[in-house]
Amino acid sequence: MRGIPVARGRFRTLRWWANGGLIAVLLATPWVRFDGGEPLVLLDVPARKFHLFGLVIFPQELFFLWLVIASLALTLFFATALLGRMWCGYACPQTVFTDVFAWLERRIQGWRGSRAPRRVALWRRAATYLAWLGVSAIVAFHLVAYFVSPYEWPLRLAQGEIGTAGIFFAVLTVLAFVDFAYFRQTVCKTICPYARFQGVLFDRDTLVIAYDEARGEPRGKRGRAAGDCVDCTRCVQVCPSEIDIREGLQLECIACTHCIDACDDVMGRLGRPLGLIAYRSLASLSGVPGAGLVRPRTLIYGSLLAVVGLTLVTGVARRVPVGFEVFHNRNALSQISADGRTGNSFEMRVENRTREPNRYHLRLEAAPPGWELVAGSNPIALSPLETLRVPFFVLAPTDAPRGPRDIELVLEPENGSHSAVSRETSFIWMGGFHHGS
Ligand code: SF4
Ligand code: SF4
Repeated sequence: MRGIPVARGRFRTLRWWANGGLIAVLLATPWVRFDGGEPLVLLDVPARKFHLFGLVIFPQELFFLWLVIASLALTLFFATALLGRMWCGYACPQTVFTDVFAWLERRIQGWRGSRAPRRVALWRRAATYLAWLGVSAIVAFHLVAYFVSPYEWPLRLAQGEIGTAGIFFAVLTVLAFVDFAYFRQTVCKTICPYARFQGVLFDRDTLVIAYDEARGEPRGKRGRAAGDCVDCTRCVQVCPSEIDIREGLQLECIACTHCIDACDDVMGRLGRPLGLIAYRSLASLSGVPGAGLVRPRTLIYGSLLAVVGLTLVTGVARRVPVGFEVFHNRNALSQISADGRTGNSFEMRVENRTREPNRYHLRLEAAPPGWELVAGSNPIALSPLETLRVPFFVLAPTDAPRGPRDIELVLEPENGSHSAVSRETSFIWMGGFHHGS
């Protein structure tokens, strides 16, 4: 563990505001309920329902989830092509919580200015670890709360039911502690795949944090060199990735802005213009005119984002408000009833994807006379957003010709709020003839 010397300045202040806002959103989101208790975000795996900002995604609609993930990824690509690694510097949880841990460390261990104390009292060390553990537990709790309601699982935990959520909570607490307390930017340098995509995502007009070599070099002590860089190495000391930005753009740079603030502080004290290290594009550094916003990368990522976003919006607008799946009962495919008729046992899964209660009628479509459908409950009543599995039988008359037969099942809402949906399946005869399954 290496304490990060603090670099104060306008970017540090801006990042604290951005970090504070993001932490507030991250921690508050799982608690938000609207419209009579519906979660704003809850990926409820056991109930097979994914609540995302008012959209409830059922298992048959997982492509919506993929479209949301693809939209987020493309937004990140698009933003990176324009603004470089702003995500790393301002929004990535790895950077945000590493900064929080480093801030706690400085506060509790009594740093003076940007310098770590030579010796740290045992109680201060213990208090630092305790504070880190507390923050790790808070982070882990809220990560779990995106999957299990934070209003329910702590109550179950209090009653001694540890469950999967409790195990995840414990594991995530340990991981967060080890990650933010010890690994810190090592994760960015060694594990994170995002940095590896830099070459693909960046172009000459992408904003990066860069040292102005033309102005800074030749570097040297004040009054002994013509360049503005006085070689104080302050930018290197504050760098959490332990790199020297004066050597050019590097994969390890997470655009944290510490070196900008540190160098601006030095330049300010020397009475020289700020911005020896600053946000700039590679094109501007080499004196080549920039290409503006419309460039191959921004066009490609922007167009892909528009296509995926449009597909998502269209898909949501045209989504079928009821889910209907029919399955053969594999334990009792075909049976002979007391009156000699052949019967097939099925189960259907019906999802009411609307926020209104509804009743649905199941019927056998275009069946020849004598064919009968018998369901445990028909019509099927469903509460808002409820999923039900209902068993039913289809009975063939005794004189029905044995042979391959497809049957069509139709589910119709009683209130006519949307059109009927249908599913095809096959009827299986005892001892043989069947078609598909
Ligand atoms: S902080 Fe600025 S002046 Fe000091 S070494 Fe870095 S670039 Fe040079
Ligand atoms: S060079 Fe270091 S201090 Fe400067 S932005 Fe990159 S990671 Fe941060």
